[in-house]
Amino acid sequence: LEEFGLRRRVAGRWQYDERHLCHSPQERIFFEGAWHEGLLPVQGVGATALAQYRLFAQRVAALQGAARFVIPTLHASLTPALLALDALPFAAWLDREGFDEPHLRWYLDYCCRDDYGADATQVSAWAGIHYFASRHGFHAPGDGNDERDAVLTWPEGNGWLANRLAQPLGDRLKRAHAVVRIAQTRDGVEVDGWDSASKTLVRWQAERCIVALPVFIAARVVENPPEVLRHAAARVKYAPWLVANLHLRAPLADHPGAAPSWDNVVYGSRGLGYVDARHQSLDPAPGPTVLTWYRPLGPSRYDSGDGRRLLLDRPWSGWRDELLAELSAPHADLPALTTRIDITRYGHAMAMPTPGLRAHLGNERTPASGRLAFAHADWSGYSIFEESFTRGHLAGRYA
Ligand SMILES: Cc1cc2nc3c(=O)[nH]c(=O)nc-3n(C[C@H](O)[C@H](O)[C@H](O)COP(=O)(O)OP(=O)(O)OC[C@H]3O[C@@H](n4cnc5c(N)ncnc54)[C@H](O)[C@@H]3O)c2cc1C
Repeated sequence: LEEFGLRRRVAGRWQYDERHLCHSPQERIFFEGAWHEGLLPVQGVGATALAQYRLFAQRVAALQGAARFVIPTLHASLTPALLALDALPFAAWLDREGFDEPHLRWYLDYCCRDDYGADATQVSAWAGIHYFASRHGFHAPGDGNDERDAVLTWPEGNGWLANRLAQPLGDRLKRAHAVVRIAQTRDGVEVDGWDSASKTLVRWQAERCIVALPVFIAARVVENPPEVLRHAAARVKYAPWLVANLHLRAPLADHPGAAPSWDNVVYGSRGLGYVDARHQSLDPAPGPTVLTWYRPLGPSRYDSGDGRRLLLDRPWSGWRDELLAELSAPHADLPALTTRIDITRYGHAMAMPTPGLRAHLGNERTPASGRLAFAHADWSGYSIFEESFTRGHLAGRYA
């Protein structure tokens, strides 16, 4: 981040370049016919909900002391407290602790679907708590703590980071080459790739190889996959996702309440709402923009069937209809203002931190075998940029 000029040390503290931090307002929720600040439903939810919000905040704070919740995860040792949370589905833990209030449960499901692609019945209690405890905790309304995590964001998403990481590689970066075989030989590593431009198979020879592929693909292309890889691939399950970009020719009419934000969520919907690509613009005048709608398809109360099969079978028009119906609730004029929709299907978008996965994967800094070092967010058991970056960095040092 320092090399990219995103942050620097000032008087012993990190100071971020404000242009790249998510501008205020960061998030809002469409609940009971109006927009409200934040993503936790508050207005009119009743005393039980508010009490459980406070209790949950206290529980997260207590657990922050009992087990280390850090990003990257491999900086936390696998203590008995952490493994006990890892073993249990988050929903079962919430039931056991008496957290049954529907608004709280909706919000926690939303968070799990947002970061893990599946709801609280599918991910471990460790993952459910980690979402809050590794960051700034859980804030109950009125707890006097308005501190929020600073979020780096760009109109093109994490592509901003990926492009800058790739830039120094120049033409050593071979795009559109699908690796079909990685084999350790007597003196090195052979990597065979399908060059889709020339439609030929090309071979590289290297002293060492960092295999930064998802583990289910690595296990297929690495010849005689080592035990460490087979072990990981046998257990990592993936949430499919659908992402749609909607091009709008003019600003949307809005309901009363909280102002348009970076993240705009519709309570109770299948999708996770939309992010506005124009949010970071310094031009105050509203104008044409692109909204990104996120639809996780891992198992959840919304999708009981096979999400990957649904992704494969359902035509683009079905997704268009679902998203237009969903986002028309807060913006009735959205279908009329939409000029184009780009839909992308991700069959294996992210590893789901299912119960027991942390224990299964262990805390190896760099999984390796001979001349191969493995790197990918999958090795952390869930998917965020910080985890994948750490894994890649460590594998590079090892190699
Ligand atoms: C919808 C969505 C939203 C997300 N939002 C965020 C977010 O806001 N913040 C955040 O931190 N993280 C987010 N993530 C997670 C983030 O995208 C991942 O953590 C990150 O991409 C993992 O990087 P990686 O390098 O470990 O793996 P990948 O990004 O999976 O990279 C692996 C690469 O290998 C390539 N590959 C696969 N097979 C082959 C082959 N045979 N030959 C050659 N190449 C191959 C793939 O094309 C891919 O480019 C999001 C993920 C999704 C799906």
